[in-house]
Amino acid sequence: MLFYLIGTILSLFGGFLVVKHIFKIIQSKQILANVNTQIERLKICNQCDHVRLKKTKYIRCTKCGCFLKPKTRLLNQECPVGKWSASNSD
Ligand code: SF4
Repeated sequence: MLFYLIGTILSLFGGFLVVKHIFKIIQSKQILANVNTQIERLKICNQCDHVRLKKTKYIRCTKCGCFLKPKTRLLNQECPVGKWSASNSD
């Protein structure tokens, strides 16, 4: 019973995070970061201690678990340790 209760709470919390993120995207009216921003973000990630599979298309962050090619392309994403922020670099 407790297992189902915890599962339900986690599902609701996950749904809340997804809706919150979609709302932020709709508010900003811009979904993708420009290419220069993506390149700058990937340069930072390539020098980070938390990166795995560097210089491959599967480059991944061990802090947030995200694949960094798509993460760095999405404007509203940000580094979990604050190395780059959720905005275009220019
Ligand atoms: S997103 Fe941040 S923590 Fe993750 S690899 Fe890139 S710079 Fe490092």
